[in-house]
Amino acid sequence: MRRPRRSEDYKEFNIVKGYSDSEIRFKESKGTDVAFIFPNSYSVAVSSLAFSWVKDLLINHEVGVERFFYEKTFKKFYSLETFRPLDEYGTWLFSLQFETDILNIARILKIKGIPILSKDRNPNHPKIVIGGPVTYFNYKAPLQVADYVYRGDLEVYVKEFSRFMKGENINIPSLCSHENQDCKLAKVKDLNEMPPVGSIISPYGEFKNKLLIEVGRGCIRRCAFCMIGHIQKPARFLRPEVLKDIVSKIPKNISLGIISATITDYPWQDEFINIFSDRKVSFSSMRMDRLTEGLLKLLIKSGQKSFTVAPEGGSQKIRDILRKDISDRDIERALKLGSKVGFKKIKMYFIYGVPGETDEDLKDIVRLSLNAKRMNYEVKVSLNPLIPKPGTPFEGVKMEDAKILKEKEKFLRNLLKKEGISFHFESVKKSILQYEIANADKNEIIEILAKYVGGNI
Ligand code: SF4
Repeated sequence: MRRPRRSEDYKEFNIVKGYSDSEIRFKESKGTDVAFIFPNSYSVAVSSLAFSWVKDLLINHEVGVERFFYEKTFKKFYSLETFRPLDEYGTWLFSLQFETDILNIARILKIKGIPILSKDRNPNHPKIVIGGPVTYFNYKAPLQVADYVYRGDLEVYVKEFSRFMKGENINIPSLCSHENQDCKLAKVKDLNEMPPVGSIISPYGEFKNKLLIEVGRGCIRRCAFCMIGHIQKPARFLRPEVLKDIVSKIPKNISLGIISATITDYPWQDEFINIFSDRKVSFSSMRMDRLTEGLLKLLIKSGQKSFTVAPEGGSQKIRDILRKDISDRDIERALKLGSKVGFKKIKMYFIYGVPGETDEDLKDIVRLSLNAKRMNYEVKVSLNPLIPKPGTPFEGVKMEDAKILKEKEKFLRNLLKKEGISFHFESVKKSILQYEIANADKNEIIEILAKYVGGNI
């Protein structure tokens, strides 16, 4: 594509080109059948395996697909592959990873002068399709914006979906439309048939300079606040021989990012440690009750300085309400193990704003963090308000009021500051918005879009 002449467009073009040039790509993709759009920043997009995996699944079925991402200054939206502007594509496939990203989808449509609501568009407008994790538990709200919503694991109907992306009129059980709202959630039975491996390495995002491999999908646990533990059942894993074969084909100098709801629940732990014994790896989520010396050593050997755990509740009472199934003893054991292996830094995730929570429960968050500090860890605490989600035991529970959440945040901030523990609080406002979108019905989502995006609604 020729360099844009207008300086504003040139600036945008350069941002996209900068990211594009920084990528190592193992699979080329080109073509204008589908614009595959992550409605969030490049860093967030590239942290998700879906950013390359969905593209690769479609390319394997001869769909011409190029990737896009969102920045609020963008006007043209150039593709990362050929820098073609978004207007040149007839089908726009969005990956809705986070509830609030639906606002960015609406913003993109607004910027491009396209009616935000599906009912206001005509056949001259691009076909808007939304898929991704949010549609697993709420597809009716995204369907107000999309012409079609694909629900669930793409691998299941990838052949049919690819034909649909190329313009064929085809019936797919997991493709919801305004005519067919009785669409079923597609779940891959066996991850080993089409093992999800990335094809892009980027110096940005959560897994910078790493190739991603998904070793497990879904979760064997049942934490009450977590959609994965309820909607994405059963948990499915790559068998060790399949994983070994994949890893053996990746050059040794490439570091690997391992994706799984909880790596500590991978059923073949010894084989896992063996497979990665001479590789640099990183993985984020480990349960404290299942943490092993072998896994922690793997992280240390890979150069990781800090490890992350999620007690979620400071007190046993709150952990029981959250159905976290870990005890004070499990936490203490995990802290000791991390210290024994040589970790000096730890990141701990907590949830507050839980029904029945008292000041004592909040103080217990600080107590647990302080225990880690006393064991000579440099502690970073991340605190998130409870967001009751559909499809979980908290479905129908009202989220704690903003005023009370802010008071609790202040209370915790003061205590953590006093103890010299560094912390990050997720914004109460954004969390409430996330709750509202996650639980929105078709009328509520229209109100939310009108309030936050406006435009032609
Ligand atoms: S919070 Fe983690 S362990 Fe619990 S159900 Fe969700 S993914 Fe599984």
